[in-house]
Amino acid sequence: MSSKHFVIVGAGPAGGTAAAALRRQGFSGRLTLLGREPHRPYIRPPLSKHYLRGDADRESLYLDDAGWYADNDVDLLTGTVVAGLDLGSRVVHLDHGESLGYDRLLLATGATPRRLDVASAEAPGVHYLRTLEDSDSLREALAQGGKRVVLIGSGWIGLEVAASARMLGNEVTILAREAVPLSQSIGDELGGFFAEQQTRHGNVVRSSVSVDSLVAEGGRVSGVRLTDGEIVPADVVIVGIGATPNVDLAQAAGLVLDNGVKVNERLASSDPHVFAAGDVANAFHPAAGVHIRSEHLSNAMKAGVAVAKIMRDEDVVYDDLPTFMSQQFDVTLQFAGYAPLIDGAELVTRGDVNSGSFSVFWLLDGRAVAGANVNIPDPDKALQGVIRRARRIDPAMLRDVDVPLESL
Ligand code: NAP
Repeated sequence: MSSKHFVIVGAGPAGGTAAAALRRQGFSGRLTLLGREPHRPYIRPPLSKHYLRGDADRESLYLDDAGWYADNDVDLLTGTVVAGLDLGSRVVHLDHGESLGYDRLLLATGATPRRLDVASAEAPGVHYLRTLEDSDSLREALAQGGKRVVLIGSGWIGLEVAASARMLGNEVTILAREAVPLSQSIGDELGGFFAEQQTRHGNVVRSSVSVDSLVAEGGRVSGVRLTDGEIVPADVVIVGIGATPNVDLAQAAGLVLDNGVKVNERLASSDPHVFAAGDVANAFHPAAGVHIRSEHLSNAMKAGVAVAKIMRDEDVVYDDLPTFMSQQFDVTLQFAGYAPLIDGAELVTRGDVNSGSFSVFWLLDGRAVAGANVNIPDPDKALQGVIRRARRIDPAMLRDVDVPLESL
């Protein structure tokens, strides 16, 4: 039996995975998992897709059964707000006055949707999407169809929710600040492909537009006013303009921050007893040579497993290849690679974009630093292998679908 007490702040996918991994890896000390939301850990991707459309039930979202935490001696305290950290004496202060000493602390505090700071932005009918409750309330607004739905922001929330809203029979307009939706994440070419999927299914994509304010009539949102004065009518407005890492506790405690909690390849912060994982952690990636902060489920779960090993003193680093997926209408994207490196990399397309099934790779100095499959099943993860091997590749070979990826 270990006499150590590990405390995890944040019961989202990263914190929940870390708690489960600690027990499954054999950690026998005391384990406390503190979550602000009233739920046990659950995954968020279905909140903009299957769950939002009513095709998945709530139970399917949870990481573990309700009884798992008690059965495995994990003190799961939901609805619990942490008021502060005392790094010197290794104590977590809860807002209702209790204090918990720890030997090791994991910060898995996640991120918060950026708020739109314009007139009438808080009017009824304006939605954000992060939590189960957000998705429930959005489903209620969209489920019957026939609504004029306006998305502000053309990132992952914007495009996935736009697809779901359309699939539920609504009339959808996406207001994109950028010239090409998703360009910041996956570049202009692939972003353009996803914008086309939206228009192909009847959604309207308005690029390079800026929001001046929201319009509210009769106590509800009724439109979005653009900076040129045009009003786009709306019954429902969904804001998806990015998220900011929840660093308040870390900042107040004096941990080093840099676009989140700055951690090394062992997910350790500037205090050796404090680790960070998931959306809040900006982790040094040894293969990429840069820090990466990834707000995707796969990172939360892989980092959760890795940090459990590290907190138990296993001699490992967190060097998994970052991946994520998205689904919009009938298109599935599987991305792998080092997102900060794709800016300025050479894009190589493999297969026919017009067929709707193709891959792209981003080459930097002749080596693949990222790649994406669009509607290409890849059970053996051949695309990931190309990035992991990091060999110099002739772009012509990569383009040629008759050359197996395994040989590159
Ligand atoms: P996001 O993917 O980072 O996209 C944010 C979008 O909002 C960008 O298009 C950005 O445009 C725009 N934007 C930022 N500030 C704006 C403003 N003031 N007015 C108008 N547009 C503005 O963020 P998200 O879609 O809100 O999603 C939140 C987080 O959840 C992201 O980190 C995302 O990765 C994650 N998520 C992931 C998935 C997935 O893995 N499939 C699905 C849903 C959400 P600029 O480029 O011009 O800044």
